[in-house]
Amino acid sequence: MSCCNVGDQRPDFHDLGKRINPENKRLINCKAVDVNQLMPLKYHWAWEFYLKGCANNWMPTEVSMQRDIEIWKSNRLTADERRMIMRNLGFFSTAESLVGNNIVLAIFRHVTNPEARQYLLRQAFEEAVHTHTFHYIVESLGLDEREVFNMYHEVNSIYEKDEFEMKLTQDIMDPNFSTATDDGIRTFIKNLIGFYVIMEGIFFYSGFVMILSFKNRALMTGIGEQFEYILRDESIHLSFGIELINNIINENPQVWTDEFQQEILELIDHAVELEIAYAQDCLPNGIIGLNVGMFRDYVQYIADRRLVRLGLKPRYGVEESPFPWMAKVMDLKKEKNFFESRVTEYQPLGFESDSAGGGNSSDDWLSS
Ligand code: MN
Ligand code: FE
Repeated sequence: MSCCNVGDQRPDFHDLGKRINPENKRLINCKAVDVNQLMPLKYHWAWEFYLKGCANNWMPTEVSMQRDIEIWKSNRLTADERRMIMRNLGFFSTAESLVGNNIVLAIFRHVTNPEARQYLLRQAFEEAVHTHTFHYIVESLGLDEREVFNMYHEVNSIYEKDEFEMKLTQDIMDPNFSTATDDGIRTFIKNLIGFYVIMEGIFFYSGFVMILSFKNRALMTGIGEQFEYILRDESIHLSFGIELINNIINENPQVWTDEFQQEILELIDHAVELEIAYAQDCLPNGIIGLNVGMFRDYVQYIADRRLVRLGLKPRYGVEESPFPWMAKVMDLKKEKNFFESRVTEYQPLGFESDSAGGGNSSDDWLSS
């Protein structure tokens, strides 16, 4: 029984018994180069995520930046507020590309299942749209492109986060790397957790809070709207990632040892500290509605929620989000004006509601 149903030899063209049985599909360790036998589906969730992603199409240039430009050029923002926005853009403008690179250079090669690959292709495009968003913001506001896009080389707390992620991509790109061994699978799972759970599920969320806090004050609303779209995409990336990781573990339960779980917890501890250091750097004096203490709580709060979704125990014990308003942003379908200006009719939004505020961690929307 093989998940790819194809050996290295030329097939016997009369052997219909070689037709794929979806039950034999596996997420990893099938042939990396083969036709994409998408149907019959086995991993319906991956296909659903693909459809969900496609239903959320958007382009940054559809959002007007006129009011943002006026505000940016006026004296309505304090030096501390400008510093935070610049460092936020400095992180996101290049972090999105790291996620895209990791999909193409590291994940796609090893996730050999067609349904999951279909989603990964969609996600890679979304990451390009996100990078495009930062180009558009920088250009609209007339920011120094070289300053923003080089910030990871100039601001230590950004460098450290990027370095943390790039190391995980490098591990998979090592020519000797393979998922044929349990250690290989563990290294691969670490990469998936590092990107889906930590980068997209933790680092990005505190970045969303920073920018969306301005939208709450009716400031920088164009960037705010773009961040709402990005947040919607990222919540799906995160949910897909969690599903992928949990299913790979289910198919390879021997890799999920106590020792490995401990290693994952340490990875997340490290990431939480990196994110708090970054918040400190962005907000040395705090601004209206935000300070470093709140970010410490928020990062630990969402880290706990992510751990639970990976089947691990919460670790930091922060039970309430210091930014309860994020729950409303997550539930965009209740904001009736949100998509009013859009030509396209969107499907109901499916956010996992645990990411910012209340709610539980189910992925109910997938089945609705
Ligand atoms: Mn993204
Ligand atoms: Fe993403």
